[in-house]
Amino acid sequence: MKFAIPDGAAKILRVLEKNGFEAWVVGGCVRDSVLGRVPEDWDITTSARPEQVKALFARTVDTGIAHGTVTVMLGKEGYEVTTYRVDGDYEDGRHPKSVSFTANLREDLRRRDFTINAMAYSPERGIVDLFGGLGDLEAKTIRCVGAPEERFTEDALRLLRAVRFSGQLGFSIEPETRRALSLLAPNLCHISAERIYTELVKLLVSPHPDYMRTAWETGLTAWFLPEFDRCMETEQNTPHHCYTVGEHILHSLAGVPADRVLRLTMLLHDVGKPAVRRTDENGRDHFKTHGEVGEKMAGDILRRLKADNDTIRKVTRLIRWHDDRPAPEPAAVRRAVSQMGEELFPLYLTVQRADTLAQSMYLREEKLARQEKVGEIYREILRRGDCVSLKTLAVTGRDLLEIGCPPGPTVGKILQRLLDRVLECPEQNNREKLLLMAREWI
Ligand code: ATP
Ligand code: MG
Repeated sequence: MKFAIPDGAAKILRVLEKNGFEAWVVGGCVRDSVLGRVPEDWDITTSARPEQVKALFARTVDTGIAHGTVTVMLGKEGYEVTTYRVDGDYEDGRHPKSVSFTANLREDLRRRDFTINAMAYSPERGIVDLFGGLGDLEAKTIRCVGAPEERFTEDALRLLRAVRFSGQLGFSIEPETRRALSLLAPNLCHISAERIYTELVKLLVSPHPDYMRTAWETGLTAWFLPEFDRCMETEQNTPHHCYTVGEHILHSLAGVPADRVLRLTMLLHDVGKPAVRRTDENGRDHFKTHGEVGEKMAGDILRRLKADNDTIRKVTRLIRWHDDRPAPEPAAVRRAVSQMGEELFPLYLTVQRADTLAQSMYLREEKLARQEKVGEIYREILRRGDCVSLKTLAVTGRDLLEIGCPPGPTVGKILQRLLDRVLECPEQNNREKLLLMAREWI
């Protein structure tokens, strides 16, 4: 088997080999090339020691010298070059106690997580596939290299990587590997929140975000997102729904584009439901205030997972408002835009549509029709440039002070009242008119 590799990677292999070392591209780039996908980065594995690699290239960075990794810079491109290694015993299910280098490619491939990630390639010698990676790519299977229980015990992050690769590639998880996921799920407690979050987001923005279901079935979510397990256990006896809360969430995920904020919003949009569920005398369930409760829970969850503040702010706001249903009238839509923020309103429309499409058919046409209309009105508001925030209100706090408004909270209150007026009637966004009104109130 032959495939093209970038000039930079080819050059590094040539230089290393000319100097008497073995060198291969390895791991994800081989997997992706065989699949006809464009690899994100090209990693190189070699028999040369880090010092020897550094001696051969003009510009190198010590990215992980303790693990034998040197980044070779060629122009703007960086290539990670790692010395063949075997990992020593794992002390804590996270870090190998020691890393020793080995002269053997086989040993280096053997320590990798899955068969599809454990192949090497050289333009001269072709592909090295010692663990059946090609067959597993063909069969669309995620399978551990060696005994799954051992491999997951060594490094529990692999538990999540298995599900993540399965979602990215649309592969199924080989039964033994899957059994080991269930068995060793508790080991996730050794893994830092940051690393869990990184894998979670990769799964969510993959072509199969609903493979979150596998993470639940194998008991992984119980360790990093028990709130999701509650959702999977919560029935929704209402004509609007046909799934449990959790299944509804899983069905809604692929309804939004593969974007971190949007997919996290769908994952958590109904996370408040289990806590607020009330069943009425007719046996029908109600979930009043689940948006507000969900906003708070999502904030706690995302902070726990060490998400960045911008993501937390957007996701929690979208969850707070996801079930808000303004009437399809300009003033109502302007009020909603003003409340949610101009930046988030288009995302809200996307979220609401995906939410509806994951519900039962009950009133579906009506729901979608109202949303469509709100969307049209919103675009019209944008075209006209209607004022929907204090930013474009024709009067500022300073103006109010100049006409004698007492400094302090009154300024904000009056500005908000003026904005409320303008949201009703955009024509009123005129400095003289607004100041006249403000004078009266002062
Ligand atoms: P992508 O970069 O698309 O996430 P990848 O396969 O390149 O996929 P990386 O995390 O970049 O994944 O790792 C590169 C290679 O290193 C993998 O293909 C695998 O061979 C090996 N590897 C990475 N993480 C682990 C791990 N936790 N346990 C064992 N091997 C690993
Ligand atoms: Mg990679």
